[in-house]
Amino acid sequence: MRGAGTPLALLRVDPLATQVEDRCVRCMMRPEVCLCPLPRVPNRTPVVIVRHRLEAFRPTNTARLAALALAQAELYEFGRLGVAGTDAPLRVPGTWLLFPDGPPLAPHAPRPARLLVLDGTWPQARRMAHRLEAVRGLPRFALPAPAEASDRLRTEPHREGMATLEAIAHALSVLDGPEVAQPLLALYRRQVAGVLATRRGQAGLRPA
Ligand SMILES: [Zn+2]
Repeated sequence: MRGAGTPLALLRVDPLATQVEDRCVRCMMRPEVCLCPLPRVPNRTPVVIVRHRLEAFRPTNTARLAALALAQAELYEFGRLGVAGTDAPLRVPGTWLLFPDGPPLAPHAPRPARLLVLDGTWPQARRMAHRLEAVRGLPRFALPAPAEASDRLRTEPHREGMATLEAIAHALSVLDGPEVAQPLLALYRRQVAGVLATRRGQAGLRPA
């Protein structure tokens, strides 16, 4: 038994470790809307994603796609008391948390050298930010609200309301340049279109 004081730790996970029947082994979409081959995006700012464990099996989860598409990305799971886990990845100097309650990046101020993103519903993300001690001390920054509304797969209750892949793309657009963001945003749009097409197919007439 572990005591109540045991710190929560993170487990590094292979994005491909989660598999669902009848879905692509890489992108986890249904075969008729498979997104593969996924782009390989050479980001300069490394990205660390902490995913809530309940997200792994959700077909609308975008952390998997981000972790597979980015050349420099690490995916960790939050939500189990760590046995072999660690929070060392959160303590690397230069790591900043992308979070809706942070200030915007100032034009000539220091910038993140490493980007941390919490992946989950908004209440899950808030809880992760609170419960991971190493996260509490990190500098935070927020993105401006998107200029235009785009199709999304979930109703987002907060202002920025972006999916993880979309938020990473916008942050890397600022940090690394729009050429890094563009293939990520294109991938996100294809995922949204694929999931919506699947939903329409399931709701409509289908041969038995
Ligand atoms: Zn695929």
